[in-house]
Amino acid sequence: MKKSKQIVTDSDRYCIFCGKSTEAEHHLLFGNKRALAEKDGLKVPICNNCHNTGPVLSRIHDNPMAEILSKMLGQAIYEAKIGTREDFRRRYGKSYL
Ligand SMILES: [Zn+2]
Ligand SMILES: [Zn+2]
Repeated sequence: MKKSKQIVTDSDRYCIFCGKSTEAEHHLLFGNKRALAEKDGLKVPICNNCHNTGPVLSRIHDNPMAEILSKMLGQAIYEAKIGTREDFRRRYGKSYL
């Protein structure tokens, strides 16, 4: 399957959090919502450290507050560029905002 283009940031070259070179993509909505986020381009360039290999307070995954903020950002971008809150709720099953 062809990968989608992310619609969140201007550049794919640098980690959105720390500015290091991109090593991965983080899907703003993940787990069982990851495939939908892939289709919608709701993902950001990220380095491995900020994604899932760094200290837990410096990364997204397994860091509860960061994981919630990620979902909120995903919804905010969806509502800014794709559809309404009701559309988001229908597609992703709930609203994070
Ligand atoms: Zn980083
Ligand atoms: Zn991720």
